[in-house]
This record gives sequence, structure tokens and C-alpha cells, in this order.
Amino acid sequence: MIESLIRDVPNFPKPGIVFKDITPLLQDPRGLPEVLARFERLVPAAGYDLVCGIESRGFIFGAALAARVGKGFIPVRKPGKLPYKTAQESYELEYGQDTIEIHVDAVKPGQRVLIVDDLLATGGTLAATANLIRRVGGNPMGAAVVIELEFLQGRRRLGGLPVHSLIRY
Ligand code: AMP
Repeated sequence: MIESLIRDVPNFPKPGIVFKDITPLLQDPRGLPEVLARFERLVPAAGYDLVCGIESRGFIFGAALAARVGKGFIPVRKPGKLPYKTAQESYELEYGQDTIEIHVDAVKPGQRVLIVDDLLATGGTLAATANLIRRVGGNPMGAAVVIELEFLQGRRRLGGLPVHSLIRY
């Protein structure tokens, strides 16, 4: 069902990229509950203490999952958005660099963190997020994404971090 609610938008945000648009999935009242139910089945909630969502579509799925399974939620954001002390991590994009941040007190020592985002492409964002969580004392136990672009082989960049995906292209 959710497969049919992902819209391909060619040449966004730049020529040659096929953007996987999740807004039809959010618009359908069955979409988000179905995603959350499948995440919960794939990754038993007893295995993690916190959900980390990556700005900004990761917030939608991550915060909803955290509320559903009764866990706390921590945001990873673009630079300059988090108000308290942060740790930063930069990573390579296809063209250029990007940076993300986390609050230094987001995780208590040893807490197990499930990372949530909408889509795994080259894996740079997830890898950087896992590093941030380690640097502030947490244990990234896995990642859950709605969509995986398998042909980009993003898992290779993740050093064995288990990734659970619902739709693969
Ligand atoms: P990456 O770091 O290459 O794995 O890129 C993942 C991030 O970029 C995710 O937060 C996605 O939301 C976004 N992204 C990358 N490629 C696409 C795409 N084709 N369609 C939609 N979002 C994308």
C-alpha cells in the first residue's frame, strides 16, 4: 500500500535526480500508521531507548514512532538550529559538504538509539548521525528508513550498522 503513495519527481532539486516525494503518503490517513506499524515489527522497541530523527523528514517519522512505542525523541539538525551546546559532524555529499549537529546532552551514557529518516541514498547522512550519537556517548543500534535507494549502496558506508527499510529501489 505505501509503495503506491511515493511520488517520483524527476529533476528535483537538480537535473538528473529523481526525488522520492513522501507527501502523498503523509496525506493519506493510512500512510503514516502503516509505516509506524512496519517499523515496530521490523525493530522491536525493547531493543532501543531513544529514537533519533534527522531533519527534517526524519522528524515526522521519528517523533511519531517514539510516541507510538513510548520512547524519547532526539533531533539531529542542520547547523545553527539547536540552541544549547552541540557536537558537529561534517560529511561528503555528491557535490560538496554538509554538516549536522546534536545536543551534547541528547543521550545518556550507553543509551541505545534507533536512527530514523525518510530515505537512505549514499549513506552519508546516516553515517554522520551514527558518529554524532557515539561522540555524545550513545550506542546507535540501527537505523529505520521508509525508502532505500539500493543502487547507491549506502549500507557500505555504515560500517555494519543494521538498516531496516520498507521500500527498496
Ligand atoms: P544520503 O546522505 O546520500 O544517504 O542522503 C540521504 C538524505 O538526503 C535523506 O535525508 C533524504 O531525505 C535526502 N535524499 C537523498 N536523495 C533523495 C531522493 N532521491 N529523494 C528524496 N530524498 C533524498
